[in-house]
Amino acid sequence: MNRLFVPCLGIVCTVAAWPLPAEEAALCLVDEGRPRATIVIAKDATDLQQLPAGELQEYVRKMAGAVLPIRDDGQTPEGNLVLVGESRLTRAMGVDLSSLTGDSFTIKATDGRLVLAGHDARLLPDDPYHRAKRGTANAVSAFLQDVCGVRWFIPGELGEVVPQRKTLTVQPLDRRETLYRSSSGGSFSRSPWAHRNFFGEQVFTSPTGCHLWHVMIPAEKYFDEHPEWFAQIDGKRVEGDRRHSYLCTSNRQMWDEALRNLKELYASGYERVVLCQADGYRRCQCEACEAMDDYRIGGWYLPSVPADRVWVFHDFLARGIQKAYPDRKLVVLAYGPTGEVPRRLEGLPDNVIVEWCHPTRGAVGRWTQFHDQFSAFVYWFVSESRNYVPMPFRGVDSEFKRLASAGVRSFYFCGGNRCWGIHAPSYYLIGQLLRDPKRDAGEVLDEFCRGLFEQSAAPMRSYFEAFHEKTGHRWELMLPETLGQPYDYVAHEKPRELYLAGFPDEVLARCERHLTRAEALAPNDVVSRRIRLFRDGFEYSKLTTEGFARLKEFQQNRSEKSLTALHKAVDRRNRFVEDLFERQKHVRTALPEALSGSLEHLLYGTHGHLAMPFQRLPKAAGRMNGS
Ligand SMILES: [Zn+2]
Repeated sequence: MNRLFVPCLGIVCTVAAWPLPAEEAALCLVDEGRPRATIVIAKDATDLQQLPAGELQEYVRKMAGAVLPIRDDGQTPEGNLVLVGESRLTRAMGVDLSSLTGDSFTIKATDGRLVLAGHDARLLPDDPYHRAKRGTANAVSAFLQDVCGVRWFIPGELGEVVPQRKTLTVQPLDRRETLYRSSSGGSFSRSPWAHRNFFGEQVFTSPTGCHLWHVMIPAEKYFDEHPEWFAQIDGKRVEGDRRHSYLCTSNRQMWDEALRNLKELYASGYERVVLCQADGYRRCQCEACEAMDDYRIGGWYLPSVPADRVWVFHDFLARGIQKAYPDRKLVVLAYGPTGEVPRRLEGLPDNVIVEWCHPTRGAVGRWTQFHDQFSAFVYWFVSESRNYVPMPFRGVDSEFKRLASAGVRSFYFCGGNRCWGIHAPSYYLIGQLLRDPKRDAGEVLDEFCRGLFEQSAAPMRSYFEAFHEKTGHRWELMLPETLGQPYDYVAHEKPRELYLAGFPDEVLARCERHLTRAEALAPNDVVSRRIRLFRDGFEYSKLTTEGFARLKEFQQNRSEKSLTALHKAVDRRNRFVEDLFERQKHVRTALPEALSGSLEHLLYGTHGHLAMPFQRLPKAAGRMNGS
């Protein structure tokens, strides 16, 4: 497969790579505001070609004020043609699209013709999950970005940058591209912003989710007849519930039934199925299971101690799937009890992709000695659903590159795209790295700032650097592990410590200075409104930090004065959050929310991690009197 890393060409209309012989003329799409080309799609085009054709028409209009008509290939319109997706006319030109797979694409500009086409496919005509391979959309998106300089930094009209020009010409070029990422799922996966920024998939993954035990062996179907298939806990076989089947994984009879049911998930054509034990895993305590390994805790990842009882079962399933569907893959999560490399297996079959949920440095080292295909379940966003602490831009960059260098090409993002006022540069960077993991993060941040903030670009860049400077600390917290000790990086994440460590007074003062300067330099209302998104994100972080700081002072020195200061800080912060929530209620087509979620979540964190002191203050007066 021909994989090319395409360098970013900057926000100017420019000549793309791989020029054809110089005698070929540039292709004119718009001349002094007048349309000079027709967009052509196949007569039987689906939305996978129709939507990109519409997108191209719309952005040419935004750039040059000219509307290029869209026609089908029933005829051959006069003049220059932009062929979007495969059609009679691409075939007549001899453009061979048959070698494109996944969502790869080609961009070819030659005398009088611009071809923007890729491999498009949809497994089910009415897939409720809207899963598709969008090669043609990728071609249009790459053309608009690389050749025309369009950027979609943030969702919404004010989040995009569209260079203005009256004349639009395209130099001869001929290139093919396969994106680096094989698939990206979870957060972002269904938004137009994400598709434009190359989140997407080259393979069809079953939408069944990953916790498949209750899908393969549902208790309501099997428990009455086969209680011995289910985990024995405290001397009793347990049924679990509708979403959690706890299995006795040493029961071979159960294996056969599980395999039969797992095979069904491939029947409609899915190329990958993702397999993991029940969430909140509870181990079977029967003699046969306990004899399989030394795993004796309740579901956590235990570095150096695998739950071989589960791995041996999953290995059996993988081998059965390989026989039935030799060209498909089984993605098996290395999660909790299966986080560690199995001891009882010589190796895993080569249809297995091991998906890392706890890619500590140690685990990655051990896994890469054992197997060679990996994907990643990325928890980066846990921070935002729990407590809204930034995912540092540099941390995302180094973590992404570390995973990519270990061979990870598929990513499942857990819980992101909800904090644009805090994480927007990191979100944008992820899209860039999915296309090309070698992209330089500093360049991406420069591009983000120059594109969105114009004269305010320099102070905004300094602002982002300062804002994310100390939060990088959490990445270091995540990575170490102690062999034989349950690994729980979530426990490292005490929001109070994170906020205080991430935003010391000196950092907050620097952020404030840069933001204020950026606001003063803003050349127009559009830039001011973009800065406002980040001002909101900053105020949230600053006021939350101040609340925690006053709480700490109060706990160290319980006095009326410190209690009053704490009350004031909590009131100020909660009033800001309530006001922000009200402002954000109105449908925002211009920009996304700075922080999204219910008011309760914004105030107290999704799981109540910010409840102290923002929901309830420490009991004060009694203790003060008594002390
Ligand atoms: Zn058992």
